Amino acid sequence: MRILITNDDGIRADGLVALANAVRPFGEVKIVAPDRERSACGHSMTMRDPLRVKEVAFHGLEAYEVSGVPVDCVNVGLTLAYPDGCDLVLSGFNHGPNLGFDVTYSGTAAGAMEGVVNGIRSIACSMAIFADGAPFHFETGARWLNENFEWLTSLDLPDRTFLNINVPAIAFPEVSGHRFVAMGRRVYEDRVEARKDPWGRTYYWQGGVVVMKPDDPTSDVWAVSNGMVSITPVSIDWTDHATLAKLEEMQTVARNS
Ligand code: MN
Repeated sequence: MRILITNDDGIRADGLVALANAVRPFGEVKIVAPDRERSACGHSMTMRDPLRVKEVAFHGLEAYEVSGVPVDCVNVGLTLAYPDGCDLVLSGFNHGPNLGFDVTYSGTAAGAMEGVVNGIRSIACSMAIFADGAPFHFETGARWLNENFEWLTSLDLPDRTFLNINVPAIAFPEVSGHRFVAMGRRVYEDRVEARKDPWGRTYYWQGGVVVMKPDDPTSDVWAVSNGMVSITPVSIDWTDHATLAKLEEMQTVARNS
């Protein structure tokens, strides 16, 4: 199996090493990752600037750092590392959760999205810590992925769907299995904070306090809050098909009246 790995925390991130080591036994692994942290870049791509690519040493694996975001990395990877295509795109392990609406901001998810755009099976992997400074427990994510890799990569999925996986950042024996769940609610309060620079000018910093809503047992937020690995199939077809059907019906009724 030809595996392309990217992330949004940059080529020097510990989560990237953990992910590469977890899947090494299953085939050829090549790394193409941003030259610095690009978290929360979403599914953006670099169009107005050149992409500088440099081959780098990476634990004995072929690896490149790119002056871009995860989307750029996947596309550079498919040009340079795997010009004949590959079988799997993995993105992660993200240094933090990608639950609920986070998926729309996530550079980690975007790496997997771009894999799917290219018609390749793709998985985004994140370590869900819930307190600043808590250990990421990458060894838990790596072991879980290693043990579950074969069935995960042979699931029958629609061609526009990738898997978004969040592993709770706890010791491996404490993980109580996995659960297939939907995107839940994880919202930010006090999003934009006003601060002063050394010259007394006001500037703003976006971040905020995360509020988890782990009340819905069909959600990723609930699963991870209860020590389970969450697996969410995410479609890059953002059409709301149920609403589309209603609107079409409305149109037909209007036309016939
Ligand atoms: Mn990140």
